[in-house]
Amino acid sequence: MALDLIVRNARLPDLRQGVDIACQAGRIVALEHAITAEAARVIDAGGRLVAPPFVDPHFHLDATLSMGIPRLNRSGTLLEGIALWGELKPLLTPEAVIERAMRYCDLAVAQGLLAIRSHVDVCDDRLVGVEALLDVRARVSGYLDLQLVAFPQDGYFRSPNGVANLKRALDMGVDVVGGIPHFEATMADGAASVKALCEIAAERGARVDMHCDETDDPQSRHIETLAAETRRLGLAGRVAGSHLTSMHSMDNYYVSKLLPLMAEAGVAAIANPLINIVIQGRHDTYPKRRGMTRVPELRAHGVPVAFGSDCVMDPWYPLGQADMLEVAAMGLHVAQLTGLEDMRWCFDAVTTEAARIIGLEGYGLEVGCHADMVLLQARDAIEAIRLKPPRLAVIRRGKVIAEAAERSSRLALDGRPARLDPADYAPPGGL
Ligand SMILES: [Zn+2]
Repeated sequence: MALDLIVRNARLPDLRQGVDIACQAGRIVALEHAITAEAARVIDAGGRLVAPPFVDPHFHLDATLSMGIPRLNRSGTLLEGIALWGELKPLLTPEAVIERAMRYCDLAVAQGLLAIRSHVDVCDDRLVGVEALLDVRARVSGYLDLQLVAFPQDGYFRSPNGVANLKRALDMGVDVVGGIPHFEATMADGAASVKALCEIAAERGARVDMHCDETDDPQSRHIETLAAETRRLGLAGRVAGSHLTSMHSMDNYYVSKLLPLMAEAGVAAIANPLINIVIQGRHDTYPKRRGMTRVPELRAHGVPVAFGSDCVMDPWYPLGQADMLEVAAMGLHVAQLTGLEDMRWCFDAVTTEAARIIGLEGYGLEVGCHADMVLLQARDAIEAIRLKPPRLAVIRRGKVIAEAAERSSRLALDGRPARLDPADYAPPGGL
């Protein structure tokens, strides 16, 4: 019997080379050199990089592609963005949110991004975003894993119906418990919100992912409470702190205590480099803080870390294109991760590490995993981050669901015709 698909002569992110990947009934059934079986479809990777799909562990699908509605963010600040979102919310309709979210999912698939954890604002009493994204989750389930987080944007306690609406959203089928402790009215309220939300997650067997300490305030320390509650309630491995930007500004002595506490508790960290680098440090003159959390130090202490994209063309961020390699590249630069192993890790931060943190089942390039993968026009993970190359084939459950043409340019300079591929400028044999 012929297999469904064989991808031949792949190079994997972990540096295995010349690998054939056989797929049958949606799963990887063999991964070895020179598979002799026949297949209905064969793709020759030609020694190029085949990676598991990109995973975005932090996004806002209810706001994406809404840039300019009802007006543009003139200052580019977080506060004007939040004000703008407040103006947009009453105007939202389920149809418009669904249309924008579906368009974004199309773009994501074309970029090889096949799993997204999206926060959804639950502070609008109509729960328009929740209704819309539950619909989108069902519509895209055949080709994209969409996880939803109940996110009380205006504060769990601070907004009038935050407590009730978050419960309603979970009852409607939202997967993960969110929070925003630094936005509550007081530090005490913030800590109380972390406690209450973790208790809800424990009761429901849900995961937790909070916007936590997304400030430049060195005293914003809700991550400490999140770690303590994770430990108290036995939630290890199911809790993520998103952003954690205050950690950038914290006292070094305090951080030396905090990092082991996070590792012991089993809390993961999700940094959002594109957004952190433009939103944080806005009150600084010079030196101006970068704002991204302490990625190398978290990793060194054994805390799982991933990179998310957070926003694309919405009230907070006017750029972006669902390209997790752009996110990895920015994270690499902001955290100064230019060592060889560090650069390779930046690729993991938008693939395997992100998948592990959000708890994706059957993810990875191993026998028995889902037959989900991306063929890139690059020799290795580091070159992929450098070039952000075309996704030549995007494969889901053993079927090609998106394809792109190879990229090259033709030059005619001083009578020297040449075909130019940016990959020609890489070291021989790749990295
Ligand atoms: Zn966010």
